[in-house]
Amino acid sequence: MMCEMCGKEVPVTRPVFIERTKLNVCPSCARFGDEYRGSAGQSQGPSAQVIEQRLERRNRRMQTKDVYAGRDSVRLIDGYGEAIRKARSAKGMDAEQFAASISEKKGIIMKVESEDLTPDDKLVKKIEKALDITLTETVQGGGSIGKGGSNAKMTLADFIKKE
Ligand SMILES: [Zn+2]
Repeated sequence: MMCEMCGKEVPVTRPVFIERTKLNVCPSCARFGDEYRGSAGQSQGPSAQVIEQRLERRNRRMQTKDVYAGRDSVRLIDGYGEAIRKARSAKGMDAEQFAASISEKKGIIMKVESEDLTPDDKLVKKIEKALDITLTETVQGGGSIGKGGSNAKMTLADFIKKE
C-alpha cells in the first residue's frame, strides 16, 4: 500500500483526517492527522466538516437578515432638492456658482435640486459640507433603503464593510 501523504510504500496504512481530507497514510504520517473514526462513526451524524459548513451558512443568513431587518438605514430626507436650493440661495450662490464651488457641473446641481437626480453618497456628503446642512435621515429597523439606487447600494456596502 502507498502512503497518500509521503508516497512511501508501506505494509499497512491508516485512515486519518488531514486538513479535513481523509487520507490513507503510513504510521509515521498518521501523527500529522486526526484519527479517522471509520464509517460507523460517520453514519451516526454529520461530519465535523458538514456541521461547520452548516454553521457558516447559518451565520451568513443571519448577517444578511441583519442588514435588512436589524439595522437602521440612512436615506435622503424628503424634499432634499428644496433643502439644497434654499441653503444654496441663503449663501448667495446661484446654481452655477455653487456647482463650481464643489467642482460639480451646473446641470448636476440643477437636477439634484429638482430631484430629477438622486445624488450618490459622495455628492451628498460634499453638498452637506459645503452648505452646512443635513440631507439624510436614519430610518430605524431597515424600512426603506434610500430613494435612489446608488444611495441604497452605498448604504448596503457600508454595512457589509462593518461586518
Ligand atoms: Zn507517509
